[in-house]
Amino acid sequence: MIKRMESVEQASCSGWRAGLSDPLVMKFGGTSVGSGAAFRRAAGTVAGEAAKQRPVAAVVSAMSGVTDTLLAYAEATARLDGTGQTATGSTLEGSLAELHRSLYERHLDAAREAVGPALLPGVERELLSVLESLLGSLTDEHPSEAARRAGVVVHGERLSAVVLAAAISTAGVPAEVAPDPIATDSAFSEAEVDVERTRARCAERVEPVLRRGSVAVVPGFVGRDRQELPTTLGRGGSDLSATVLGRGIGASEVWILTDVPGVLDADPRLVEGAGTLPEMSYREAHLFAGLGAKVLHHRTMEPAAAAGIEVSVKNSFAPGEWGTRISARECGRGVRCVAVRDGLSIGVLSAGERTAGKDVLCALGCDGGGLQVLREVGADGEVAAVVGIGAPTDADLVRGLASLAASGIEHLWAGSTALGLTFVVGSADARFALGALHGALVGRTESGVESEVPA
Ligand code: ASP
Ligand code: MG
Repeated sequence: MIKRMESVEQASCSGWRAGLSDPLVMKFGGTSVGSGAAFRRAAGTVAGEAAKQRPVAAVVSAMSGVTDTLLAYAEATARLDGTGQTATGSTLEGSLAELHRSLYERHLDAAREAVGPALLPGVERELLSVLESLLGSLTDEHPSEAARRAGVVVHGERLSAVVLAAAISTAGVPAEVAPDPIATDSAFSEAEVDVERTRARCAERVEPVLRRGSVAVVPGFVGRDRQELPTTLGRGGSDLSATVLGRGIGASEVWILTDVPGVLDADPRLVEGAGTLPEMSYREAHLFAGLGAKVLHHRTMEPAAAAGIEVSVKNSFAPGEWGTRISARECGRGVRCVAVRDGLSIGVLSAGERTAGKDVLCALGCDGGGLQVLREVGADGEVAAVVGIGAPTDADLVRGLASLAASGIEHLWAGSTALGLTFVVGSADARFALGALHGALVGRTESGVESEVPA
């Protein structure tokens, strides 16, 4: 096992945290709680770890699809006309009743499968109270539209947390919902975490539950601003909730349980034969997620790296398997994984442009007129970049160029950037280039031998 990086941050806080020994945070994504069977499986996994006498906090996403539904309702009810009709023409009342019915049924159906009969009436009551609060959030006054949207969408995680806590109790370990330990600013749709206030809230809301010997079930994605208004950490933000919570309670390990076996070394929808990475460094995982690897929210590694928390990405169907372990450890030379980013153009930042705008993906180097950059321009972009992340060598650059040439793909630029080994190609070639570069670069070490899975 990879040794944990000692961190100053944890050492300085160990005093008031005495007694909570080695807590574990386990995060379940939307498909890992997408049905009654999935809740039961997740609850069994949590109960299994908690039975090892280890404090466990479970962070849970909304059931798959629920966040999208809630956002659609928030949108449709945003501009009600005088007739009380939503943007889609249905009456507000009818539409809210339908939302209430469908969410109640979906969660109750799941609970019937995962929760024992003794706990079911309590779950019904709690689901109804969360749904009442949801309807309130859709119709009440809010300080802004963004605040309203956040206030609506956080209910998805509140509903799934109710079911998961009861399912864990059914699996034999007491569990309680420990709501909203994460403190944020008021950027409602993608809020910034306040580390110190989060620590204090964890001490108040989560640690007492763990000390009682119960599993703390924390709704993911959700934060609270200084006025206690609900905020969100951005789409896919439950991963970030897990590492933020891990830092808040002094965990040395966070497990991200998902529907794939770990972090794959390329997008499996684009590359046949993408494999699972046994290990990654925080740096590599951060870059990979930033380039769009869907398995992790792009900011997940920030709290983990700051606090030296080992993050394991595991398949929720096979949590006993290794998955991918992410730590401070750098894994040696070579390209670990490849990502593609489309919708780019090559441009030049003139000396007059003082700051590289938000649309700049990376710098390519200087030419006479200024700094050459890759810009993200969306649909107008005619080029794509394939990036090899890891510790690439010159030999990798040569091998990569040879593989593109052998596949008849023209490269427009190639070299090292802040992201990794970067090959710029025409948009039409992006997918082929990704496949060719994956084949040529990933899984090789210096000597060209396939890398080994650690024991
Ligand atoms: N439920 C939220 C989303 O779909 C957060 C998450 O699942 O991570 O974006
Ligand atoms: Mg996710």
